[in-house]
Amino acid sequence: MTAPIVISTWPFGKPANDAAWNVLNPTGFALDAIEAGIMQCENDPTVTSVGFGGLPDASGEVTLDASIVDHEGRCGAVACISKIKNPIRAARLVMEHTPHVLLVGPGATQFALSQGMREENLLTEHAAAEYQKWKQQQAAKKKPQGHDTIGMLALDSAGRLAGGCSTSGLAYKLPGRVGDSPLIGAGLCLEPGIGAATATGVGEEMIRSCGSHSIVENLRRGMEPIDAIRDVLERIHRRRGSEAGDVSFISLRADGVYAGMSLWTKTNFQFALSSPDRSDMIKAATLM
Ligand code: ASP
Repeated sequence: MTAPIVISTWPFGKPANDAAWNVLNPTGFALDAIEAGIMQCENDPTVTSVGFGGLPDASGEVTLDASIVDHEGRCGAVACISKIKNPIRAARLVMEHTPHVLLVGPGATQFALSQGMREENLLTEHAAAEYQKWKQQQAAKKKPQGHDTIGMLALDSAGRLAGGCSTSGLAYKLPGRVGDSPLIGAGLCLEPGIGAATATGVGEEMIRSCGSHSIVENLRRGMEPIDAIRDVLERIHRRRGSEAGDVSFISLRADGVYAGMSLWTKTNFQFALSSPDRSDMIKAATLM
């Protein structure tokens, strides 16, 4: 078994992995590593699709989605939460301090504040300026660009798996829109003793396909992580054809075998790996 090990989506996963690795290596708890790693990304104002500095919705408000799962498959999530810089911490608090899995909107914000988290302005000057540009382009009916989730999966040296993901979702989304990231089974799934998967891309695709859950079920039936992802991408492509948006997954099996794969080559999806013998960005395989 390769452990500890942590993988996470996109180049911004590299510094997030470094923060997670500081917790994980040599004997830290996988769940603590996930929280620390994802918080690093949420706190970085230059990442415009996660946490502080995320691009707002169509009304100009920054709303965030996140979820977390521990080694026993316990989970917590927040959706469409505003004014809270670290939704991954709020998700963990939902998991550890409520009988629920998912809190949304003002209720999620209120809960986070009641747990001692601070109310903060999440709209940076840069994101506000981008929003104004988008408003002007909207008149010209240009399609909005900009999304990407930090999804992170970790296995600690005691063999405990954990996972999390966090995003500001699609830039300039309709107010109230929730993506895949806070939906267990869509953007994140973990089965103790089997493995885990998490996603990035157009969340509607992952929700329609229960993508992360389908990957973990494939692992449970004995598939290799790369085949488990490929099977789900093929299903999405069969159903959606060229209409399918960006879809990418990473998966980590309970024995430390990992994979990352994207539906489209043009997505140029990469993921960060940290393990005892390798710390690198890896170009993901692609289906089409
Ligand atoms: N999956 C995220 C969402 O749809 C965005 C992304 O990862 O690109 O909210």
